[in-house]
Amino acid sequence: MEIAIISGKGGTGKSSISAAFATLAEPVVLTDCDVDAANLYILFDPEHEEEESFVGGEKAVIDRELCTNCGICISYCAFEAISFSPEGVIISETACDGCHLCKRICPHGAIHMVDNDDSRLYTGSFRNGRMVYGRLAPGEENSGKLVNLVREKARKQSKAFGMETIIIDGPPGIGCPVISSITGVDQVVIVTEPSLSGLHDLERAADVSGSFGIQTRVIINKADLDEAMSDTIETWCRERGLAVVARIPFNPEVVEAMVNCKSISEWAPDSETSQILRETWKGILHGKS
Ligand code: SF4
Ligand code: SF4
Repeated sequence: MEIAIISGKGGTGKSSISAAFATLAEPVVLTDCDVDAANLYILFDPEHEEEESFVGGEKAVIDRELCTNCGICISYCAFEAISFSPEGVIISETACDGCHLCKRICPHGAIHMVDNDDSRLYTGSFRNGRMVYGRLAPGEENSGKLVNLVREKARKQSKAFGMETIIIDGPPGIGCPVISSITGVDQVVIVTEPSLSGLHDLERAADVSGSFGIQTRVIINKADLDEAMSDTIETWCRERGLAVVARIPFNPEVVEAMVNCKSISEWAPDSETSQILRETWKGILHGKS
């Protein structure tokens, strides 16, 4: 069973909830599909067994021997990636979009394209199973494609190690990497928080998962910070046919746990938060609403 945990935006506690589930379950395959800002590897310090390069695009490079510093390429670059410097004309790796235009217009053939291959895909083990995650290098592209590779690898790990449950910690937002994270999963869990912007982001995330027809559940995190807004969110979910499977109270121990590289289930297993999460996870695994 593949379960994707997403949130309409960052900062809702999605990763700490994913981490709690990952350490409650029977051995699992845990994937961090937030490839632009992967963080679960910091918490779980996995043993890397495989490290693969991911080519997410191309970038332009100047050949100093051929460049005359005429500056023509500077005015053509729509991404303002090229500029004069004391060493001559330079291209910013992070600003370059890989569009090839400068290569075509350089009258001296001084620009060529090279692969952007600093992004990585890691596979290994962590303390409750297998872990697969991607890290997109700064300025590199195609996060959706990298997410697809992470998920493909996770499925292979699931088969190879007989771990049926795959937990996907998805990226925030509703963009291409989120779509890649939820396509074909069995369930989506949206983590939200009790605020107007939380509700708005939940609506957008629910629209995305709804458009794929995936069973979707909602967790309201830090629910007691605004009980009235939590009620509003719950009402909205009910009207929309979405089950709110947990209202988790704010608990500073969650942050303490993260600081100590533990999930809340490991750090404070008897806390109210851990108990709620344990019951919620059981419900998710057994399809209860
Ligand atoms: S157009 Fe070519 S030769 Fe002129 S500055 Fe750019 S890279 Fe150098
Ligand atoms: S490849 Fe495109 S984006 Fe990159 S430096 Fe050249 S013109 Fe700019």
